[in-house]
Amino acid sequence: MEAYLEKVINDTRAKNAHEKEFLQAVEEVLTTIAPAVKRHPEYKEMALLERLVEPERIIMFRVPWIDDKGQIQVNKGYRVQYNGALGPYKGGLRFHPSVNLSIIKFLGFEQIFKNALTGLPIGGGKGGSDFDPKGKSDNEIMKFCQSFMLELQRHIGHNLDVPAGDIGVGGREIGYMFGQYRRIRNQYEAGVLTGKGLDYWGSLARKEATGYGLIYFMREMLKANNLDMKDKTVIISGSGNVAIYACEKAYQYGAKVVAMSDSNGCIYDENGIDLALIKEIKEIKRGRIKEYADVKTNAKYYENKEGMEPAIWSIKADIALPCATQNDINLNSAKKLVENGVIAIGEGANMPTTIEAIKYFLDNKILLAPAKAANAGGVATSALEMSQNSMRLSWTFEEVDQKLDNIMVNIFKSCEETSKFYDLGTNYVAAANLAGFRRVAKAMRAQGVI
Ligand code: NDP
Repeated sequence: MEAYLEKVINDTRAKNAHEKEFLQAVEEVLTTIAPAVKRHPEYKEMALLERLVEPERIIMFRVPWIDDKGQIQVNKGYRVQYNGALGPYKGGLRFHPSVNLSIIKFLGFEQIFKNALTGLPIGGGKGGSDFDPKGKSDNEIMKFCQSFMLELQRHIGHNLDVPAGDIGVGGREIGYMFGQYRRIRNQYEAGVLTGKGLDYWGSLARKEATGYGLIYFMREMLKANNLDMKDKTVIISGSGNVAIYACEKAYQYGAKVVAMSDSNGCIYDENGIDLALIKEIKEIKRGRIKEYADVKTNAKYYENKEGMEPAIWSIKADIALPCATQNDINLNSAKKLVENGVIAIGEGANMPTTIEAIKYFLDNKILLAPAKAANAGGVATSALEMSQNSMRLSWTFEEVDQKLDNIMVNIFKSCEETSKFYDLGTNYVAAANLAGFRRVAKAMRAQGVI
């Protein structure tokens, strides 16, 4: 590796010693971009990488709210405006008890390259809270969202920073936050949030976009390697927004999804997962995946065990789609998947595969669709929602879906071209990092030392 890159990694480690997810994300990118850095010695002179790893701005705030028992609760709120070289900061909000600065910084850092890969005019940002939506009443969710937005509204705007959803933040939460923003600002600034409801300037196909996009990318990657999805067995971790629509599209391409999960465990249905039932349990009842096996008695439920790898990765499959959370597949899980004959991994979640597991997959010639490229369909469609909002019109489902498909095809092409240019074979992980980096680095160089 270039000495310059090594120095930046070491300095970042020293300055952010306790932020392990953030350091993992930085390391994962910086260890793959050496060929581009070598071609541009001016990046070192301009301290481009030192600036790239440092967020332009971090906002941290208190979120007090009153629960249904009348008790005051206090959560932490975050927004990281990481890099605005390519456009207004863009990236989701995550509400999950595990959220801390390290997680928000890792997500924001990844978002820079992902957004660059879409080819659209959007910078990288991310935010969220350690608020746990599980078990909260609708009223409590609304109270929390309103308090969160009371502070966040000072820092966002359709030309400045445009948040969207992520884990724990879906249409309901975006609705409450948009309502509060509109009330405080006293104007209808539709483009300030994406993932809005269809009745108030949301985009058709935004809900489906990340999952569908993942499968479009997978289709392209398989095609380039003379494979396809038909009759392939698929396992998907998670059963939230990304997982559900990845499952829906995988079925449309003739694949059979046999397992899905949540944080408690996974279900295995050898006849193929009944997606309508999953949607009812997860989207309507907001229940647990275990309930699937109560209805479908032929299905099996495997509970996750404390300190053990998630049960789902022991199930035999051709294609594995981690769509839950970071570091979901570690080296042991990767070994199990390879042993069971997996041919491709599609990262729907952000950073779902540890660095050791990525290396293991690549060493074993498993095709790996990296998150920055493969799950970029969500943010790309958010950018399409922003365009529709600016033009005050709305495209049909088919129009948005077609644009999404084209974007995913182009992202794959850009990975493939980059991989050919740098002679990377099927290492799409390095190719995606390099392609994203080149675009953002060019814009940063043009804009001078800021
Ligand atoms: P949702 O909240 O809709 O669903 C998350 C799913 O993952 C749930 O099934 C949840 O289970 C599971 N999960 C969450 N945390 C854990 C954990 N610690 N261990 C095991 N399972 C867990 O989120 P999304 O589907 O929106 O997001 C999933 C992933 O995709 C995230 O990594 C997100 O960053 C990424 N992503 C999302 C995009 C989007 O458009 N929504 C865009 C690009 C990436 P449980 O209910 O038990 O918590």
